[in-house]
Amino acid sequence: MPLPSITKHRAMQCSAKSKRTGLPCNNPAAYGCRTCRMHGARKEESIKRGEQHPNFVHGRRTLEAELEQSATSRRLQQLEDAMHLLNMTTAKRSRGRKASGYCKITSVDEIKKAIG
Ligand SMILES: [Zn+2]
Repeated sequence: MPLPSITKHRAMQCSAKSKRTGLPCNNPAAYGCRTCRMHGARKEESIKRGEQHPNFVHGRRTLEAELEQSATSRRLQQLEDAMHLLNMTTAKRSRGRKASGYCKITSVDEIKKAIG
């Protein structure tokens, strides 16, 4: 049951969900934040990212680096699709999970769109 500040006074409710039950947190959100004090209420401007983050080591695992790696992997997988579609190779298809945003290339028009 949410607190009266949420039900009667339109306070923002914490956006966190319980790992165990899947139910939303019933606490009111901290001022200017999306979550309550128990779920790490921090204002957007106080969140440290990139080199300012205390756990930053070398930068190979930053959000930008991982997005770039995912884009490169997706492009390579689509190039492999194109090579198989154009009968340029008889090699086996690579195995494993495809990169996020990957869509299989099935026609020459899609090759032009993806590569060109
Ligand atoms: Zn909460």
